[in-house]
Amino acid sequence: MNKAELPLKLLKEYFGYDTFRGHQEDIINRTIEGHDTLVIMPTGAGKSICYQLPALIMDGTVIVVSPLIALMQDQVDALTTAGIAAAALHSHQSDTSIKEILGDFKNGKLKLLYVSPERAVSNYFQEQIDLQKISLIAIDEAHCVSVWGNDFRPEYTELVHLINKTNVPHLALTATADKATRQDIAQKLGLKSAKTFLSSFERTNININVQPGQNRIDIITDYVSAHSEASGIIYCLSKKSTERIAKKLKEKGIKSAFYHAGMSGESRQKVQQAFQSDELTVICATIAFGMGIDKSNIRYVIHYNLPKNIESYYQEIGRAGRDGNAASTLLFFSLGDAKILRQFIDQSTASEDFKMIQRTKLNRMIEFGQASSCRTNFILSYFGEHRRTSCGHCDNCLHPPKFFDGTIIAQKALSAAKRLNEGVAINALVDILRGSQSSEIRRKGYDQIKTFGSITDLKREDLIQFIGQLINQGYFEIDFTHYNKLSITQLGSDVLYKDATVSLTAPIDREQKTPAKTKKEHYETGLFEVLKALRLKLAKEANLPAYAIFNDNTLKEMSRVKPLFEKDLLDISGVGKHKISHYGAYFLEAIRAFNQKKIVPLSVRGETYLKTLSMIQTDRSVAQIANQRSLSENTIYDHINHLYLNNEPINISQFVSSDEINKITSTWYKLKKTEEIKLLFQALNEKINYGKIKLALSFIKKS
Ligand SMILES: [Zn+2]
Repeated sequence: MNKAELPLKLLKEYFGYDTFRGHQEDIINRTIEGHDTLVIMPTGAGKSICYQLPALIMDGTVIVVSPLIALMQDQVDALTTAGIAAAALHSHQSDTSIKEILGDFKNGKLKLLYVSPERAVSNYFQEQIDLQKISLIAIDEAHCVSVWGNDFRPEYTELVHLINKTNVPHLALTATADKATRQDIAQKLGLKSAKTFLSSFERTNININVQPGQNRIDIITDYVSAHSEASGIIYCLSKKSTERIAKKLKEKGIKSAFYHAGMSGESRQKVQQAFQSDELTVICATIAFGMGIDKSNIRYVIHYNLPKNIESYYQEIGRAGRDGNAASTLLFFSLGDAKILRQFIDQSTASEDFKMIQRTKLNRMIEFGQASSCRTNFILSYFGEHRRTSCGHCDNCLHPPKFFDGTIIAQKALSAAKRLNEGVAINALVDILRGSQSSEIRRKGYDQIKTFGSITDLKREDLIQFIGQLINQGYFEIDFTHYNKLSITQLGSDVLYKDATVSLTAPIDREQKTPAKTKKEHYETGLFEVLKALRLKLAKEANLPAYAIFNDNTLKEMSRVKPLFEKDLLDISGVGKHKISHYGAYFLEAIRAFNQKKIVPLSVRGETYLKTLSMIQTDRSVAQIANQRSLSENTIYDHINHLYLNNEPINISQFVSSDEINKITSTWYKLKKTEEIKLLFQALNEKINYGKIKLALSFIKKS
């Protein structure tokens, strides 16, 4: 075989894909040729293939440095199911298993060995490295080496020694790196004449939406209830919010749970596993969740609170839609959250320089929330990718904001707040402006103030949105320490006393703005559910995450194509040879059983055919059916053929083996696609009967 074809062949054989994506192939070739490389690829673009595939070609073991134990373990599981020898060394293991893994490493049995940065820089490990044949060193999450990055880890800076002493190609990879971090990585790690591969950070399948932080819980429960089957993550700032939202969703019958740093390691592990295997649909989590999640079918990510910077935000929404299917995200924007985040920074014990960086980053996050132009372009330019065209998959592109003069609304709201001595929160203010006749309002005498009922022409939710905008634009401030009362800022006073004008945007239609519904896909949903259940069962038996067996896209394709034989199964994206040998038979069997149980549509007229069909469905052989019906086998084959050609649920593999189909196919081609069954019968040495030959021909022609 041509050397250039080998990576592609191995990609198909082990990972089940027909083509490389983006820069993958160039990176792999460069690595195999022995060069250092820096890879910046967004989440879900297939970073890991860049070192996993060279591991199959190069001599020795690939060392992968990764800071995330859960992610290491997931990758090791996925590699093992694909038939590639891999292991991970980390602190959560017993001495015995560490010894065993080191033994395998010494004996050259491992193609990949994952290690934590702490272990990678230890003297003991560096000594081991000297003794072994290493093919490549890959540094994952390479942005951790830079203080400009989001998750700076001091151990990473020591990796430079490991890199300097090893005369093998080095690969630094990260999914998130702004310009400053990028320049830092190559230098701090000591990469030699490294080429940088920068993939576009745009995730075209992810819809980006931002909404004012009001009515958050109602909006979330409505959205999640409407998408009760879809997997999603809801990120919150506080443990309390995660628990409260999870409880709300549970009451609505949603399989949800919370996840935060206050839980025991064991219960966190449990939640994570249940989410991985689709037993739980929604997780309400603090940022502690998702670092090690490699789940491809997350359909939405909601930010209940403002993230601390664009890196975190993009990393978190990047967990949605890794399978390439449409996914939605929603960020609730609130300046109140920004204030809390700013306090976190002020109170932290970090150096002033570091705090300064964090404040700047938070400011960019706030600007993002308030942006009225393309949000994707905002993010891309943050990461150093500048372009003119807008994305078409963010809220500002899809529903451009319509500005209008909101000075009068602002004046009325501010004036009411003033007259109430800045003593009410948003809901009460709205009730007063709209002239609510509730007993609470009357009891407190709010109906006596001058601005009571001064805005009666607006819907309640619209007015809430406008006041939210006034808060976001800095005219009001929420006092979180005093029952969320609204106080008037200097900007607000300028509107009241200095004729300053206010611009507002037209109310957002909630239907439009909430994350878009997933595109309708064409596959048999009933079969998809059957295959998912089978996958869960197999995953549990093997103690693996569900997606390590097959991901959702692969199952969907199976549900659409309904392969009958192994060779058809191999054509499905994501199915490699190793997986077929382990799981192929189970899935083929499930597809066959599903086909037979399906209710028969009456596209075929005639008692006799239907009778044969119902007997086939009870698993009887052709000989048995012929015998019971006192007909010839040939006639029964003709029935089956007729049913098959009329698209009835006939599983050809029940009657002709794939081996027989192969023989018939090649002979048919040899005989120049003859229509004479007799000629075929003779050419096949009279070993395959007429009925089978006819069925096989129908199958070939149909497929
Ligand atoms: Zn856009």
